[in-house]
Amino acid sequence: MSAVETIHVNGAWQPAASGAQREVLDPADAKTLALVAEGGVADTDAAVAAARRSFDEGTWPRTTVAERAALLRRVADLLQRDREAIALTESRDTGKTLEEGRVDVDDVTNAFRYFADLVMNESGGRVVDAGSPDVHSVVVYEPVGVCAMITPWNYPLLQASWKIAPALAAGNTFVIKPSEVTPLSTVHLMKLLVEAGLPAGVGNVVTGSGDPVGARLAEHPDVDLVSFTGGLASGTKVMEAAAASVKKVALELGGKNPNVVFADACATEEGFDTAVDQALNAAFIHSGQVCSAGARLIIEDSVRDRFVAELARRAERIKLGRGTEPGVECGPLVSAAQLAKTERYVAAALAEGASLRCGGSRPEPSQIRPATGYFYSPTVLDHCHGEMSVVREETFGPILTVETFHTEDEAVALANDTEYGLAGAVWTTDAGRARRVAGRLRHGTVWINDYHPYLPQAEWGGFGKSGIGRELGPSGLNEYREPKHIYQNLAPRPVRWFGG
Ligand code: NDP
Repeated sequence: MSAVETIHVNGAWQPAASGAQREVLDPADAKTLALVAEGGVADTDAAVAAARRSFDEGTWPRTTVAERAALLRRVADLLQRDREAIALTESRDTGKTLEEGRVDVDDVTNAFRYFADLVMNESGGRVVDAGSPDVHSVVVYEPVGVCAMITPWNYPLLQASWKIAPALAAGNTFVIKPSEVTPLSTVHLMKLLVEAGLPAGVGNVVTGSGDPVGARLAEHPDVDLVSFTGGLASGTKVMEAAAASVKKVALELGGKNPNVVFADACATEEGFDTAVDQALNAAFIHSGQVCSAGARLIIEDSVRDRFVAELARRAERIKLGRGTEPGVECGPLVSAAQLAKTERYVAAALAEGASLRCGGSRPEPSQIRPATGYFYSPTVLDHCHGEMSVVREETFGPILTVETFHTEDEAVALANDTEYGLAGAVWTTDAGRARRVAGRLRHGTVWINDYHPYLPQAEWGGFGKSGIGRELGPSGLNEYREPKHIYQNLAPRPVRWFGG
């Protein structure tokens, strides 16, 4: 078997130093989709050394803003040129539908363009009034240095782009480690960066597993910043590993997100239909493997029975299958491990007293093609409460839990009863209540009468254990920069603090 070259170091594609490789599986049939290099510590160290040299001695951190923005725009154009191919790769690798893959490509194209525009429209520094005409005081923003990026399997292209675009816009160099489960679109993106003219060594990719590659990146003394997206357990380890060298840490760790529905939102047939439809979308898109999934339906008691019955009826009809098949609405879970985890959460919830309204098992092999994939039926669990693990923990599966409230205060208390704080929604036709509740929710994004949209101009990230820092928006760029205050005395003279 010939060596697989998916590791990119200092401008060259290469196999793992050890020669090891890994099979990437198609979650729709559990068959081999591709082979990739299984990098280790030696590959990681070589990639960090290349990024370090490029930052310390190379041209990229010193290129003009206009050149960096132009490169990001070329990448955006190339993403659109390869839109169909990348969407297909993402669909086969993650299991999501082809259409979701296309949406991801369009979204990341917008992110590259947004960060290009953002840096082009900046003034280049902030003049500060030092209170004296003899002082020129200015705050400038410089790149942090070598950035390590560790990304998950649910939105591989998108998560990589949300880190790479601002990091490059700010003048950094980077090493990225995609998830071992879904590395393919990151490899494609790196090829586009090279084609767009990124100098050798500025961008490096190491395919391999969390430990050792991710762990080595997090602890590496020559890495200045680590940006991680993934689960709480791994994120905690990354923060611990980064502490020894006091590197900057950005964490996006997911959420346990409330979707709060007031009865008034369901007062008309149209309102009811919209709220049910969006609750379905909130919970089950990409089989629930979304950090902002609306996995907790928190509904006013007077409409609960009708709402949950209709939700379960529609959830049962979601068409499962291979994401590339026409008409398929939901693909498989990403891996056997994720499927087993979903099964464990449902079993635990039922043992703890939840009532099953639909789903609760893998679909019958006769109902699904290919039958060997990691499919799980969309599941609605009623009569849930905050003591259940399925309500407290991120399941990352197609599981929707239902909790009920009677008053606005109860709704807010339930929605905030989570150690996470990534996103949430409130559904109501009462404008005052909408703003009141949105203001009281301790979550990084709050939707009013909608679910899931995000904008490249608006910060994304969470309160509490949803992480540290923000992606997208001006803060998403500032994660990758160090502010520096330059104070220039135009008329120096002795201060005479000491007698002398
Ligand atoms: P992880 O948090 O383990 O994976 C995310 C990334 O971190 C992957 O690239 C992984 O590598 C890497 N990684 C794993 N361990 C370490 C480590 N010790 N040091 C540095 N990097 C590491 O997510 P899982 O794939 O295991 O999923 C676990 C749970 O995390 C999910 O069920 C879900 O609840 C949550 N999750 C949240 C996401 C979000 O967007 N917030 C995204 C994905 C998962 P590799 O995969 O190659 O081993």
